[in-house]
Amino acid sequence: MTTDDRRSNPSGTAVKTMTMTLYQAAVMQWQKAAKAVGLDSEVHTILSQPKNELMVNFPVRMDNGEYRLFKGYRVQHNNILGPYKGGMRYHQDVHIDEVKALATWMTFKCALADVPFGGAKGGIQFDPTKHSSEELMRITRRFTHSLGGNIGPEYDIPAPDVGTNAQTMVWMMDTYLNATSAHDRFAVRHVVTGKTLTCGGSLGREKATGQGVTYTVEEWAKSKKMDLAKSTMIVQGYGNVGSNSAVLLGAKGVKLLAASDHTGSIYSAGGIDTVQLKKYVDEKRGVAGFPGADKIDAATFWSTKADILIPAALENQITEENARSINVRVVAEGANGPTTPGAEEMLVEKGTEFIPDILCNSGGVTVSYFEWVQNKKSERWELEEVDRKLEGYMRRAYRMTDELRQTLKTDMRTAAYAVALQRMQRAYRERGIFP
Ligand code: NAD
Repeated sequence: MTTDDRRSNPSGTAVKTMTMTLYQAAVMQWQKAAKAVGLDSEVHTILSQPKNELMVNFPVRMDNGEYRLFKGYRVQHNNILGPYKGGMRYHQDVHIDEVKALATWMTFKCALADVPFGGAKGGIQFDPTKHSSEELMRITRRFTHSLGGNIGPEYDIPAPDVGTNAQTMVWMMDTYLNATSAHDRFAVRHVVTGKTLTCGGSLGREKATGQGVTYTVEEWAKSKKMDLAKSTMIVQGYGNVGSNSAVLLGAKGVKLLAASDHTGSIYSAGGIDTVQLKKYVDEKRGVAGFPGADKIDAATFWSTKADILIPAALENQITEENARSINVRVVAEGANGPTTPGAEEMLVEKGTEFIPDILCNSGGVTVSYFEWVQNKKSERWELEEVDRKLEGYMRRAYRMTDELRQTLKTDMRTAAYAVALQRMQRAYRERGIFP
């Protein structure tokens, strides 16, 4: 299915029988909103492809002395609102179509959150769990070196994503700094965000995405007059986003009934202790075998009745196969692109609501913006200040989306893209299009 096929689809919605790539799904989402807001045709044309797509192959020495070639990507989708910004993913399934989709989502996420960044994404196609810390460091440094001037503190700023963390970011920063004149080194620490606190990171960055998920779920519950303290949730993926969302919502009284990740699925009718599970996963690298719950299979996990489902693993996890059995009131998309268009259509028909990814998980990039500002000003903000500012950004974005949803008589996802598109369109109109 091509982009043109989708644009000529009058309903602007997914066609169940067609399989589309992740990038095609991302394009379809924003083009539905473009139609709703009557987007200027020249802005439509500019957004129809990423600005830059970079692919690098680089050799790295393994611990056994042999050399292996790695393939890395960086896609820079759009920078009308500020420097390119987006995570770096280390995973065996990373490929150019996925990176293009993730970069596209970053453009709209930053525009919706109203942080002065454009959208980018990158990564390396390999399984980081199969490498020693020394090998991971050499892979990261060699990748950063290969990217060279294609990243930069005022040009393109990477952050952590699946398979990368604060340590990865510090290695990237250190490699970039070592290629910078000694006099300017500390002026460019903001070349990456999501760093450790010692090396220029921000308080609150680690839990930021989960914190943002929590604020949006609170806004949704408020609009439904639902008491969160009496509600239940199921969470797929118990990494950075899943575990922090579960712990923070757990502290509000939301009961975790089931959790699932790449090691298996667990269930407890009485509720799973979210903090103990986080400690367990930190140590054992997965939820399987957690003593406070029973083992279940994946199908049982997806069919567990709950108020809130938080997908916080990878994309395309909620599919037309499992959507039939999903029985929740709202899907709060912690992950990027976790729901296929066909599955979304089926769930919406059943009355399931969505807090779309570009809104729900924008807490991470928002606190990355705070880290970038702190680095530029050589400041360190207190955690309370970070949380208070993040809360303002998240609630504002949620309310603007909900208001435009009502005005346009559309769904939350389309409204979220519409808020972002209107902001970008204003910038293009004011600046004009070169030449
Ligand atoms: P992470 O690496 O910390 O955790 C990933 C989780 O997904 C792990 O629990 C892993 O077990 C699980 N998982 C992996 N493959 C799976 C599979 N096949 N089936 C079930 N579970 C599987 O990554 P993260 O940073 O928590 O990112 C999770 C999602 O959130 C991604 O879509 C990412 O793009 C998105 N996201 C992350 C941030 C951030 O700040 N880290 C911000 C916005 C969005």
